[in-house]
Amino acid sequence: MRVLMIGAHQDDNEFRCGGLANKLIKLGHEVRFLSCCNGCGGHHIMNAEETVKRRAGESAAVAALLGIRYDVWDNDDCSLVADLETRRKLIRYIREFAPDLVISHRQNDYHADHRAVGLLVQDASYMLTVPHECPDVPAMRIMPVIMYYEDRFMNPPFRPDVLIGVDDVIDIKLQIAHLNVSQVYEWLPYTYEEEVPEGEAERFEWLKGMEITKDTTDEEIMTATRGYSVRFAKVAARFRKELIKRYGVEYGSKIRYAEAYEVSEYGAPLTGAVKEMLDDAAAFFGKVY
Ligand SMILES: [Zn+2]
Repeated sequence: MRVLMIGAHQDDNEFRCGGLANKLIKLGHEVRFLSCCNGCGGHHIMNAEETVKRRAGESAAVAALLGIRYDVWDNDDCSLVADLETRRKLIRYIREFAPDLVISHRQNDYHADHRAVGLLVQDASYMLTVPHECPDVPAMRIMPVIMYYEDRFMNPPFRPDVLIGVDDVIDIKLQIAHLNVSQVYEWLPYTYEEEVPEGEAERFEWLKGMEITKDTTDEEIMTATRGYSVRFAKVAARFRKELIKRYGVEYGSKIRYAEAYEVSEYGAPLTGAVKEMLDDAAAFFGKVY
């Protein structure tokens, strides 16, 4: 199966579906990342050109770690618009890869680039199968399933249709965060006025934040304020009820890290082979215990 994850920026796919990406690759599926923006806005010292180059290097390292193709489009950060030209570029891009599953942003989001990508994917979705739209690239005969990443925006709230426990691949997800050096150790700490410790090992520990054990409560996780371990654990804590429903009490109450997805009504319904693939990815986790 082919799975396309479409983010606005080079960390949107990584942090929201890096665990699922890693599981799907291990299960023998093909995963591709697309970042619609080039990363130029994400630094306070380097200029735009230097930042784009540095971000490209970091994304290449993520691609090598995961074993995926990773495309970055040359749109400047904070400038992405869901116009006809970009929609058609996306239609052609999706058709050429012909994914069975597409994962991207919802339109309900704080960042204009995220909203633009959400709208572009929605605008492209029906046209994927319309032969006279972008006739230079053959239309798809089968509509992919489309899912949205988890977010915390409330109007309307995100609906967790699909839950994937990612405890077994959390080290890789944290490693992915660690590879985005210019972001996690430079730009984001600058924006939050945080002090980053010296030394590779020390700063990686700082990046992870609070140590999460089997005894850490959901309340402790939900009230913790920083660190990528906490960030990834919050998804499991937030959707504990749904995890227990999905995995049963034994596993569902133990899972520390999860990813959640909402199925878009504009793609194919989540049935058949795509559902089986996601069930496999979710069940793969169970073998950890
Ligand atoms: Zn983003």
